[in-house]
Amino acid sequence: MVTAVMPTYARKDVVFERGEGSYLFATDGRRYVDFTSGIAVNNLGHCHPQLVRTLQDQAAKLWHTSNLFRVGNGEKLAERLVANSFADTMFFCNSGAEAIEGGIKLIRKYQYVTGNPKRYKLICFQAAFHGRLLNALAATGNEKYLEGFGPPAAGYLHAPLNNTNVVRDMVDDETAGILVEPIQGEGGVREANASFLRDLRSICDEFGLLLFYDEIHTGFGRTGKLWSYEHSGVAPDVMAIAKGMGNGVPIGAFMATEKAAQGMVPGTHGSTYGGNPLVTAVANSVLDVMLAPGFFDGVRERAAYLRPKLDKLVKDHPSVLAEARGTGFLLGLRCHVPAGDMVLKLQELGMVVPIAGENVVRVFPPITTPVAVLDEGIAIIDAACRDFESATVKAKENA
Ligand SMILES: *Cc1c(COP(=O)(O)O)cnc(C)c1O
Repeated sequence: MVTAVMPTYARKDVVFERGEGSYLFATDGRRYVDFTSGIAVNNLGHCHPQLVRTLQDQAAKLWHTSNLFRVGNGEKLAERLVANSFADTMFFCNSGAEAIEGGIKLIRKYQYVTGNPKRYKLICFQAAFHGRLLNALAATGNEKYLEGFGPPAAGYLHAPLNNTNVVRDMVDDETAGILVEPIQGEGGVREANASFLRDLRSICDEFGLLLFYDEIHTGFGRTGKLWSYEHSGVAPDVMAIAKGMGNGVPIGAFMATEKAAQGMVPGTHGSTYGGNPLVTAVANSVLDVMLAPGFFDGVRERAAYLRPKLDKLVKDHPSVLAEARGTGFLLGLRCHVPAGDMVLKLQELGMVVPIAGENVVRVFPPITTPVAVLDEGIAIIDAACRDFESATVKAKENA
């Protein structure tokens, strides 16, 4: 019999009932080190006291009014995000995939209102992930995810990452823009080089295309800066954000320059919930924490502490781990053992991590994780590796 919750996920058999900072507590009484952060969502950890206070205060005041009226918390949030990014304007939605879809609409509309109605295609990248709605899915391009859902939405091409010539050759008179994750998450923590992003910027400028970043998992401090594009210094025209934005309350947005957003006039897009008083109160609180002087210095210091530890794990366990990847707290360990087995082993030992493509285990602690808890996590990964090694030795002895 089907489960009441539709079984579209192969879920791990654990139910968490409480979270505190970088720890999760399950109904089985066990405590887990959280190196998942709800897949780059709980960047400030669980139940951050400042966020809890904000949520409780706002919950007692006002939750939702619809977008028929001005939303004070949303206006404040947008002004702050605009002041702290390349963008001039933004639209609030409820998830990452919605942010992608909104950005796609904005790009097509821009081309339409600037006299290029034929331009609607986006150049995307192999192993990308942009979400599960029908256009976001076509932009993702993963055959397995697309199978059985009818013809994929038209207008999404896929180039290999970090290959400028292929992208340049794909541009034709129907191309509207380029959609790229500065660091692919699901794809296996694969980075777009700064020089490649510069090339994409110049291709866009040369051919009148818009550059669209998917910073849904790279944003909100995951890489040690508010936005990951700050590392390369190459700004986009359009950007989708979500995950870390509300630290767990569902909120996303697409942001754009005034020029790129010129077609988005009244009536062109909408969302009933998008940016309601409750979620934007929490997102403002997230920014209060992140924009406090010195916050990202601390994040980068702790990330700089963590990274060499991962490299050392790879060096110490060459038969189990192949490589450490990533930037800031957006890290991954490519495994020689099946990554799914590693995830299960880590869970057994008291740690939760997400998996990614290319046999990678993602290492996504909350960006606020204290050094002592990072050490605890490293010790668990070390123990898991030793378990795999001794299992191999035993198998050899038995052979
Ligand atoms: C998670 C993610 C999405 C989709 O976000 P949802 O909120 O699940 O719709 C899109 N792009 C990237 C890069 C993501 O990591």
